[in-house]
Amino acid sequence: MTQAIKINNLKYTYDDKDTVFDDFNLEINAGQWLALVGHNGSGKSTLAKLILGLIEADNGTITVFGEQLRIDTVHHVREQIGMVFQNPDNQFVGATVADDVAFGLENKEMPSSDMPNVIDEALTIVGMQDFKDREPHMLSGGQKQRVALASVLALQPKIIILDEATAMLDPDGRATVMATLQGLKQRFGSELTLITITHDMNEAMLADRVVVINDGQLILDGAPSEVFSQYDVMHHNGLELPFVGELAVRLDPKPDGYLDERELIKWLSDLKK
Ligand code: ADP
Repeated sequence: MTQAIKINNLKYTYDDKDTVFDDFNLEINAGQWLALVGHNGSGKSTLAKLILGLIEADNGTITVFGEQLRIDTVHHVREQIGMVFQNPDNQFVGATVADDVAFGLENKEMPSSDMPNVIDEALTIVGMQDFKDREPHMLSGGQKQRVALASVLALQPKIIILDEATAMLDPDGRATVMATLQGLKQRFGSELTLITITHDMNEAMLADRVVVINDGQLILDGAPSEVFSQYDVMHHNGLELPFVGELAVRLDPKPDGYLDERELIKWLSDLKK
């Protein structure tokens, strides 16, 4: 199994006073979709900044596809990682959707004759090809985030990190972005590693693996069903459960472990018999 990211003995303190990480370790396999959750201030965005080399670890190592992040490798490492941020309005530079996707390609000095195909393909993958001549600012939040994803995809990253990318969207927008991510996973398989930083446990449920951090410490790590069956730990860390998890907690008797929506409905109907 190829390793996308390996974080070893990471230490990081802001301005010599606020220690965020002290001996933090995490390995992420290529092709995995990892949801990183934890309440505000637990260190999720700091971890993303460290992986991108935007800030430098005080100690420990971060290795991306076998290449250790250092001053002389940061440029190459960063080229392999795409980032989508929370506020869809802060990410646009182009006058049209197509211009916006083109911007990153121009920076990469792609010949302009190659661009239309690459732009079309990226917009098709996120279902936004019909919008390519539109002004980005006229789109809905979910559409904007899908364009932001297309801009990232056009650069062929091996890893995409989405930092609260659905937090400002309405439920429809969230649903379309999550469906787009599920589509990416199906399409790219082990070629694309996804890290979604989120407050929304219904979204985290869609990932292959959920990592809960609190105060820079790894609290829970496992498949969504394993993590969300730790109801008490989740509540203790100020985290809500996905809707079906909340429902299970309120049931008496409770199911043994975490059940997804379909399993929970079956469990309830069996109980009645
Ligand atoms: P999260 O993304 O989980 O909300 P962050 O990584 O933003 O958490 O923050 C982790 C900790 O680092 C918090 O205590 C926060 O106050 C602190 N922090 C974040 N950014 C800065 C900064 N630029 N300078 C100083 N402290 C910061």
